[in-house]
Order: sequence, then structure tokens, then C-alpha cells
Amino acid sequence: MRVRFLGVRGSTPAPGAEFVRVGGNTSCVAVAREREAPTFVLDAGTGLRRLARELGGAPFRGTILLTHLHWDHVQGLPFFDAGDRDDARVELVLPGQGSGEDGSAEAALARGMSPPHFPIGPDGLRGTWRFRSIEPGEHSFEGFSVLAAEVPHKGGRTFGYRVSDGNGSFAYVPDHEPTVEGPGPDGFGARHEAVLELSKGVDVLVHGAQYTLDERARAVAFGHATVDYALALARDAEVGRLVLFHHEPGRTDDEVEAMASTSTSEGLPVQAAVEGLEVEV
Ligand SMILES: [Zn+2]
Ligand SMILES: [Zn+2]
Repeated sequence: MRVRFLGVRGSTPAPGAEFVRVGGNTSCVAVAREREAPTFVLDAGTGLRRLARELGGAPFRGTILLTHLHWDHVQGLPFFDAGDRDDARVELVLPGQGSGEDGSAEAALARGMSPPHFPIGPDGLRGTWRFRSIEPGEHSFEGFSVLAAEVPHKGGRTFGYRVSDGNGSFAYVPDHEPTVEGPGPDGFGARHEAVLELSKGVDVLVHGAQYTLDERARAVAFGHATVDYALALARDAEVGRLVLFHHEPGRTDDEVEAMASTSTSEGLPVQAAVEGLEVEV
């Protein structure tokens, strides 16, 4: 399968000349089978807008799976031209938000996307949209097998995912604060059961790397991991390759590139996600 990075920032977009090589859009990753258009999208940050251009005028027909509902993972939704048109057909899936009417997937999304915060609610999107929530466990979306597990993060239920197509697999864990469950063997954060289950032996691990070790206090305050944690996890989970993701919005191209080039670990291939990067899995 092809894994295409459309938005690689965390927290908020990063426009400006210092950010053009890495890209300034927030989290969005499109997944496609060989030579087919993407039908499966992880997160709907501002990077989702890029997918409309890449579909070359065709409508989007597929599934968008969210890790959680923070702004940097949903703000692309109402600006996704390929999804907001009469011939689009989209299933939007998110972590379960509890029982009751307010806990429905559409109601949960509408709390952040409806007047007065935004001119329209989810029901204002054109085309056929379905909204539903899932619980941890095995799922299937667009022919891909997806394992969902809850991971610690700050402010809202958050899932990480392991995606496989029968040939290759990758784990997607953009927002994760591992020290919630203890310091782990090296102080970088616990390698807890859920994240190990998602990551164990995958070909590619896409993991949040928003902060450096020097910025550890900020990582804990904002509910994220450090680069050092991502490296340690990748090693312990014996993954094939690590892609550093969800970059700090203030980190310039030069700084992201320097971070990636110094993030080495015993032969493990490591790279920083940039907009437009495509990884064959
Ligand atoms: Zn985020
Ligand atoms: Zn978040």
C-alpha cells in the first residue's frame, strides 16, 4: 500500500517561508492500494485539502478515520472540496465518545463544528456523509485491516491505529503522552501494552515527535511524546522504519531536518515526515 503524508504538523498550521520544505498543514495521511486513488484517510487536519488536488477533480469516496477530535485533526473537514460536493460519499469514523445523544459521532463533531464556532455543522457538508464511532479492537475499512487501541493523550479520548493490507503494515500514533503511564525504562515514557500492540514488528511506525528531550516539560504539559521516546519505542517494538510526525509548529525546516539527521538508532532508518512524502509499505 501507499502511505501519503498530506499534513505533518501538530497543534496548529505553520505558514511561512521557514516551513515550506516540511510543510505547514496539520495531521492528515492518505492510504491507497497500488496505483489506485486513496480511499482511506487517517485524520482530517488542514492537510486534507491537499487530497482534493491529488484526486484530480474526482469526488472522494471512502473512509476518514480520526484518532481524536482536537482541532489539528479535524479542521480540514469543511474545506475538503472533494468531500463537500454532491457526488461525494464519505464515512467519518472516530473513537467512541460515550453513550447518550451527545456521545454520537455526529453530535461530538458538531460541538466543535457548528455556529457560533463555524458557519455549518457536519450535516451542512454536501454529498453523502455517515458518521459513526468505534471502540478498540479489530476493524476493517476500505479493505484494510485496522487495529484500534486507546493511547494516553491530553483532553479527549484518543486512539492509535495499526493498518495492514495483508502484505505490509504500519502504525499511526500521532498524539501520545507515554509518561502518563510511568517513566519507562529510560525516563522517556512507558512502553505500555496498547502502544506496543500497535507497533510490534510493523514495517513503518509513524509516531508523534513534537518535542525534543530538552522540551520534555512542554511535552508532558501538552500531552505529547519526545523524539527520544519515538526512537526508543521503535527499537523496542522492532519496527522496520520510523517516521517522525506531528512536528512542533514553530520548528523550522532547518530544525526539523537537523532533528531527523541526529535521530539515529542502531541501524534503524529514521526520517521526518514532510508534506508530499509517500512511503511504500
Ligand atoms: Zn494533534
Ligand atoms: Zn491531540
